[in-house]
Amino acid sequence: MPTTHTEHEPEPARVPGHRAAPLPVVDPATGEAFAEAPDQQPDALDALIDRSHRAWRDWRTDPAVRSTALRAAADAVESAGDDLARLLTREQGKPQTESHAEVARTAARLRYFAELAQLAHRTRRIDDGRPVHSEVRGRSLGPVAAIVPWNFPLQLAAAKFAPALAAGNTVILKPSPHTPLATRLLGSVLTTVLPPDVLTVVTGREPLGARLTSHPGIRHVTFTGSVPTGRAVAAAAAASLARVTLELGGNDAAVLLDDVDVERIADRLFWAAFRNCGQVCMAVKRVYVPARLHTDVVEALAERATSVTVGPGLAPGTRLGPVNNAPQLARVAHLVRQALADGARAAAGGHRLTGSGYFFAPTILTDVPPDSPVVTEEQFGPVLPVLPYRTTDEAVDAANSTGMGLGGSVWGTDTDRAAAVAERLECGTAWINHHAELSLAQPFAGAKDSGVGVAGGPWGLYGNLRPFVVHRPQEEART
Ligand code: NAD
Repeated sequence: MPTTHTEHEPEPARVPGHRAAPLPVVDPATGEAFAEAPDQQPDALDALIDRSHRAWRDWRTDPAVRSTALRAAADAVESAGDDLARLLTREQGKPQTESHAEVARTAARLRYFAELAQLAHRTRRIDDGRPVHSEVRGRSLGPVAAIVPWNFPLQLAAAKFAPALAAGNTVILKPSPHTPLATRLLGSVLTTVLPPDVLTVVTGREPLGARLTSHPGIRHVTFTGSVPTGRAVAAAAAASLARVTLELGGNDAAVLLDDVDVERIADRLFWAAFRNCGQVCMAVKRVYVPARLHTDVVEALAERATSVTVGPGLAPGTRLGPVNNAPQLARVAHLVRQALADGARAAAGGHRLTGSGYFFAPTILTDVPPDSPVVTEEQFGPVLPVLPYRTTDEAVDAANSTGMGLGGSVWGTDTDRAAAVAERLECGTAWINHHAELSLAQPFAGAKDSGVGVAGGPWGLYGNLRPFVVHRPQEEART
């Protein structure tokens, strides 16, 4: 009989609108269900969104109150850090150190946006030389639907609800059915410091998310997930003309230049691809290497892939956990099998690990046909194809050849030269000699199919506001 393992975790029976059969939550390190979450029915959303709307009337009025509450929320997250991190590892699979880092980033995000709440109400004068007094300030939107995937359940949720709340909106947050528990715990921790109904966590199978995105009471849908679901979300939100922010998939390329110091960058490059078991939207998912360095790079990466400690996230010393869920494991295995059948060779890994749990051996692929789906699609797992190139133009063209454009990186000893090549990447963020490093203050936006709208920094706050303009003749303005 599966059991919940934290005292914080509410019993499914106490949650309104849940189905009789709850949602089983699987520990990816064992492949066994270990807990349950409520499978809330879409009909439950009407009452919850109505309450969220009523809570918005007070929450939107005073940015100082919101700043104080968000700071208290950051403190509360830190106080519950050990419980949150343990539950996160249990349901997501990542090593404990990474779960603690995710909790810390969740608190940091709340603290960052607590400081920005005041910006939401700042009045800006528009001066276009005409005798008119025109001013603009931000107004909140109303209830926001925040939908997140299973790879970083807490930090991606905070990336959505922290700016939305700072701007004066209320939030209905839906985690992935694969990882509902840490988010539910986060929600119950935050109810101790936020006013009632300002943040509501709902859990359940589809069509819960679909109903949330098309609900007429929702004014902004902020979604992180795959490109196909992002398209469905945009179409659903069109029904109520809610605005959408979409942070979607990536297939980031790392381009190594001919002056790269392979041993110097190998650790950084390896972890840019394999952190969180490769389940990072902006992980390195393809590496392009000058033909003469190809063998060196493959060997350096394969050495790291074969020596890294793979195991349950709760086991001390584990650096790489399991893939999060069975369908994702099947997808990763399928892409690798297909590449091997097309002539690729596994310099490391290439297979599932025996025993229980969703473990896949860290895999470095070489001799991969450039049109193999493991190159052209997002693998989202512990698998990295390394492809040789002859000219820099050829590498840039290959890097830009997919429909996605989240991030990209260029690696070399002459960093000015690398930066010049990075300018040519069609993506939202380009890094030099590292990858996937983000600061809270910078915008995060994908190019091409990787996203619509902007998250992060003040841009994240503005995406949760609408401009309100007051316009009157100058003379009347003076009286
Ligand atoms: P997914 O698109 O399958 O699911 C994402 C969320 O949407 C989940 O909560 C899911 O339950 C929900 N959902 C499913 N169908 C829905 C529908 N019809 N309407 C509304 N919601 C629906 O993605 P996933 O497999 O959970 O996550 C992996 C994907 O997320 C990868 O493509 C990855 O690149 C992407 N991702 C992007 C970013 C980013 O910031 N750009 C960050 C992390 C992950």
